[in-house]
Amino acid sequence: MDNSGHPLVIVCDLDDTLYLERDYVASGFKAVGGWAETHLSLANFENVAWRLFQAGRRERVFDAALHELGVAGDSDLIQQMVSVYRSHKPMIALRDDVHHFLGGLHRPDGLALVTDGYREAQENKIAALRLGELGFSPIVVTDIWGRDYWKPHPRAFRLIADAFDSKPRRFVYIADNATKDFLAPNQLGWTTVQITRKGGLHRSEPPTPEHAPATRIASFDQLPDALGIAQSHMRES
Ligand SMILES: [Mg+2]
Repeated sequence: MDNSGHPLVIVCDLDDTLYLERDYVASGFKAVGGWAETHLSLANFENVAWRLFQAGRRERVFDAALHELGVAGDSDLIQQMVSVYRSHKPMIALRDDVHHFLGGLHRPDGLALVTDGYREAQENKIAALRLGELGFSPIVVTDIWGRDYWKPHPRAFRLIADAFDSKPRRFVYIADNATKDFLAPNQLGWTTVQITRKGGLHRSEPPTPEHAPATRIASFDQLPDALGIAQSHMRES
């Protein structure tokens, strides 16, 4: 419970909130690199793509890497590589502070997830991180409804609110990207928390005051303080 006595529901974003998205990118490039070696007899794709990404390239990395390796990348080939990337089983891990938060004594009364991104890729990440077994429920991948329902559309947040009973609760959404993550939960009266991880990919300022988080943290270790909650209160249910 929080200090008003309301049960606390912590809702998390996935990418760059629970794990580092760049680790997923590295894992995906490795999978595509292995595929390129087998199917195109092309060595070094992974290294070239990663160097481009590290240099700041975010769009059409596969085209650029193929070009650098002297291969003409038609749209069929690119589509195949994108498919390998999105369907691969990622080698990713929760950040240490997330482990500490989930494994510690400070469990909230409810724990849920809202994530954007391509459905298959997000579902593979959720499976790799075993979020269901760790108690996240519901887990909402907005892409199951199509791109129109990605954040800031409020549908996922309304679904979460409806999933808990009508008793007053304090909902908190923790995420990294002020461009899209906080508008809908702010409008629903949730507490919004931006996590600013070193190595995170999205460092934009909120485009309007309505997009801004209520507070910011650098790790989950700071969450009880940020919410004004005594740590002992987070384990009551
Ligand atoms: Mg994110």
